[in-house]
Amino acid sequence: MGRVRVDRVSKAFEIDGRSVQAIQDVSLTLEEGEFGALIGPSGCGKSTLLRMVADILQPTLGRISIGDAPPERVRREHGIGFIFQDPSLLPWRTALENVRLPLEVARGKGRVADATPLELLELVGLGGFEHARPAQLSGGMQQRCAIARSLALKPKVLLLDEPFGALDEITRHRMNLELLRIWAQTKITALMVTHSIQEAVFMADKIFVLAARPGRLVDTVTVDLARPRRMSQMNEPAFIEAVKRVRAGLFHDQTEAFDYG
Ligand code: ADP
Ligand code: MG
Repeated sequence: MGRVRVDRVSKAFEIDGRSVQAIQDVSLTLEEGEFGALIGPSGCGKSTLLRMVADILQPTLGRISIGDAPPERVRREHGIGFIFQDPSLLPWRTALENVRLPLEVARGKGRVADATPLELLELVGLGGFEHARPAQLSGGMQQRCAIARSLALKPKVLLLDEPFGALDEITRHRMNLELLRIWAQTKITALMVTHSIQEAVFMADKIFVLAARPGRLVDTVTVDLARPRRMSQMNEPAFIEAVKRVRAGLFHDQTEAFDYG
């Protein structure tokens, strides 16, 4: 169903007649229902990788599958939910009309969610705001609305590209908790791009650590922390160990300059 496999994938872009290797030979597996995080420095190819899983971009080499199908088929069947950093809601539509949009576009194709658009708005904590327009909602509320919209067609995977990157840290943490609650309720396979180490460890079952130039996978860190996750776990040894390991992967070539111990 929703297992994501990336098998020896590379992606090169042509810029001014020059070939730029954005992703080189990346392999990873995210099991059905798992929460995965992609972390790495700016420009290491996180968005490129996520966009290839979403079939927005195609790999130069290698293969990607979602369940048993190529991303192209899953996308055509409306099986991929994608959340961008910018909520990209239609400004002239109400929150409810925005959530309904995928159903109108799909016109009977794709799997309709068990919950109605109104129930989805309640699920993301926007009950009572169904008739508000995007401009009347805060950034966090707009992003919740985008999440509800992405769930309207019961996707197999939810892909999130720094979904709360534009929000302040407190709101971001609250949104992350909400996202985990929604993920647990829908049992969807989720893959989120972040550049916060703490956030990756707090959210994920598995963290894929990428390095830049060329973008490549340097470590996969399994996070062994009970769910539902709580803020107090951030002080637990398992949390601190996972943070150290991700940090070591990110700064592996600069261990002397960044001696974090
Ligand atoms: P990240 O999301 O990790 O910051 P990106 O995936 O956006 O990184 O970019 C990885 C590399 O690929 C960068 O060097 C970027 O300039 C290049 N790149 C990304 N998208 C394109 C594109 N559409 N055309 C050309 N180069 C691109
Ligand atoms: Mg990016």
